[in-house]
Amino acid sequence: MTKVVIVGAGVAGVNAATKLVDNGFKGKITIIDMGLDPYRRPAADVMRGFLGAGGWSDGKLTYHTSIGGQLSKYTGEEKAMELFDQVIANFKRFHPNPSEVQCSDPQEEPDFIKPHFGLRLFPVWHVGTDYLHEIGKNWYDYLVSKDVEFIWETKVTDIDFDNQLVSLGVVDEIKYDELIFGVGKSGIDFGKKLAEEYELPTEPKSVQIGVRFEAPQEHFQKLIDISYDFKLYQKFEEKGVSLRSFCTNNNAAYVASEHTYGDVSYNGHAKKDEAYRNDMTNFGILMEIRNIDKPFDWSRKAVEKLQHKGVGMFYSPSHRVPSKTSEGDYVETHVVNSIDVLYDAIGEYALHIEDFIMDLEKVFPTLGKDWGIYMPEVKYLSPEPLVNYDDLSLTRFPNVHFVGDALSARGITVSGAQGTYVAEALLKIKQEYPDFHVHESF
Ligand SMILES: Cc1cc2nc3c(=O)[nH]c(=O)nc-3n(C[C@H](O)[C@H](O)[C@H](O)COP(=O)(O)OP(=O)(O)OC[C@H]3O[C@@H](n4cnc5c(N)ncnc54)[C@H](O)[C@@H]3O)c2cc1C
Repeated sequence: MTKVVIVGAGVAGVNAATKLVDNGFKGKITIIDMGLDPYRRPAADVMRGFLGAGGWSDGKLTYHTSIGGQLSKYTGEEKAMELFDQVIANFKRFHPNPSEVQCSDPQEEPDFIKPHFGLRLFPVWHVGTDYLHEIGKNWYDYLVSKDVEFIWETKVTDIDFDNQLVSLGVVDEIKYDELIFGVGKSGIDFGKKLAEEYELPTEPKSVQIGVRFEAPQEHFQKLIDISYDFKLYQKFEEKGVSLRSFCTNNNAAYVASEHTYGDVSYNGHAKKDEAYRNDMTNFGILMEIRNIDKPFDWSRKAVEKLQHKGVGMFYSPSHRVPSKTSEGDYVETHVVNSIDVLYDAIGEYALHIEDFIMDLEKVFPTLGKDWGIYMPEVKYLSPEPLVNYDDLSLTRFPNVHFVGDALSARGITVSGAQGTYVAEALLKIKQEYPDFHVHESF
């Protein structure tokens, strides 16, 4: 019997499994994850478990190929949009109340942000954090009913690509015919280790670093009315630097700390339930810096410099205090009284972030100094292994498929779409396997 092993029950892995079972795959599908199923997964476990980081995320499904990482580069534009549709359809299908999934689709850049910012406009489907938990349970039940095997609380420690073996700790191993590797951001160190061990050729990457900005929502309402998840951007081509506001949360907006490599960095999410309303807005101010040698090591060092006693840092020129998480605890952070720490960590690049904030103060006149920043926010772009574009398989190991954030995604829709794309390729390509029942549409 053909064995498909999926490492990581994240957005990519779950969409891949769904595509396979929806199309009558008769082989064995095993999904291994170091987290928990959606019934037992605690709210504090932001990155691990069923639907991975996507399961406890803000549930914003972006619907444009220039957002959320690489997809159309492999699939072409038209196919990419079709894959997005499939992912969004899955989120609606397992939603307890699908009519509540709504799409915002802003059309025009407003004049008042010019000339300081550009505004990237694209549709976003809003699922909502609270519903994601219910979606997770329905989705999980469906896959279990289709005989997908889940192995929880189990960290994959090694993969032998030559002998097609996945190691679970020291003693256990599982053999696969096809492997889907979707470990997301929480598995980035593991992906890196494998890339080094097998000397996988990779594509060059940029640094993505910045801060999580937070302020009362009223200051931004004018723009939120036009674009809920607004993406302001600035470009400095000659310096190889561009900045963008990233993952904007409103109404019931919370800052979340992320633990990666033992360091703390920040992100944000929003709750849909009115009970959580705090009338705050938060977003990342993320700077992309190209042409940095060893971008991963550079980012790691910068993040380390922004740690104090095991947590990141918070600065507010008007002495705002850090806010509380949705669980009612203060966001874990160390308050500093100057932005100089940012300069110590990333050098003169910090000037771009300060300028971005000053431009925000100009464009949103009531904002003044009524803001705070959590430092750092970072996107560790994993070294992107070179893959075959038609099935995202490693050029040297054609039955090993990289998907989601472990490949080149940075969001839910792109990750899910990459998983779906691989499943489609398996259904199409592996016709020689009797276990792959090929669906009519292929
Ligand atoms: C707080 C937060 C909010 C976000 N909000 C949004 C949003 O609103 N919209 C959006 O598009 N994106 C958002 N994202 C990003 C999005 O969640 C990810 O891009 C997406 O989940 C990536 O999917 P994936 O399948 O690649 O990985 P993940 O969904 O992260 O899943 C990876 C899985 O692999 C497992 N794993 C890792 N290593 C191992 C191992 N060695 N052994 C076994 N299991 C392993 C993990 O436990 C995890 O469950 C958010 C992320 C965070 C952290």
